[in-house]
Amino acid sequence: MKLITGKTKLLGIIGDPVEHSLSPVMHNAAIAELGVDYLYVPFPVKKVDLTKAIAGFEAIGVQGFNITIPHKQAIMPLLGDVTNTAKMVGAVNTVWHTRSGWKGTNTDVEGFVAPLKAMSQDWSQITAVVLGNGGAARAVVAGLGELGCCEIHIVGRDREKLLNFYQTWQNMPKIAPLLKIHYWESLPELLSAADLLVNTTPVGMYPQIDNSPISEELMQQLKPDAIAYDLIYTPSPTKFLRFATARGLKAINGLEMLVQQGAAALEIWLQQPVPIDIMRNSLKEQLLDN
Ligand code: NAP
Repeated sequence: MKLITGKTKLLGIIGDPVEHSLSPVMHNAAIAELGVDYLYVPFPVKKVDLTKAIAGFEAIGVQGFNITIPHKQAIMPLLGDVTNTAKMVGAVNTVWHTRSGWKGTNTDVEGFVAPLKAMSQDWSQITAVVLGNGGAARAVVAGLGELGCCEIHIVGRDREKLLNFYQTWQNMPKIAPLLKIHYWESLPELLSAADLLVNTTPVGMYPQIDNSPISEELMQQLKPDAIAYDLIYTPSPTKFLRFATARGLKAINGLEMLVQQGAAALEIWLQQPVPIDIMRNSLKEQLLDN
């Protein structure tokens, strides 16, 4: 049991709902391992209370915090500064206190690329296909741009949302020339050219655990050395990754992204290396318990 002292510094996560968040477990496990005098707390904050909550955090000296649904975009104008990564993604998931006020970034990008960087340093010949065009797909596109992939194909089902997604990247010279948008009907031909297939849809997650965003038959279209990456971390494996493994493909689930985005945030707050293995194990234990 952690001893809370008069000097204990506060970190946390704001969202609505926030009860399901695994971040407190992961961060407090790392804090305990490091023996630093911090505590990471979940804060349920309603949309209407966001401005008041941030002002309150400032007043009581909260050191930093994560942001989850529905505040990832809404928080941006309330911050003094936002990194280029967060601007690119259009969302902030990590905030810290600086002398000139709150600063925000998006560590989902770092989290997404971490397991890929561990596999290879050269992504310049890689064609990526991304299923879905929601919030997580934005971090994925920024990550694929950072890796230097040669083509990024986004697959969506809503014309207006797809076009809007496409438009928001057009003033980003590193991404715009790589990006193409498609409907799901184009998948058969897209998959045969794909080296990396990323699922950013919630299909495969509870309550859709018996579904996969693509059929087993379509999975056969992928090259034998392709990588299948599912952002979903529970269940593990998802049906999508089961199809990929049966096809002999390399499979990555969303747990590492979750761990690495958290580690990147904690490093910003503590300004020191953090025990990633402890964070990963605490999450695995928590997921097994649920
Ligand atoms: P989101 O903003 O709601 O986007 C979901 C996307 O999936 C949208 O483009 C949506 O299309 C599409 N979609 C939903 N159901 C679909 C279906 N049945 N068929 C085809 N497309 C469908 O959600 P998000 O925040 O991006 O999160 C997406 C997933 O990523 C979730 O499972 C989340 O848990 C996971 N995630 C994981 C991490 C991690 O650290 N591992 C981080 C972030 C997110 P429409 O807009 O047309 O509905």
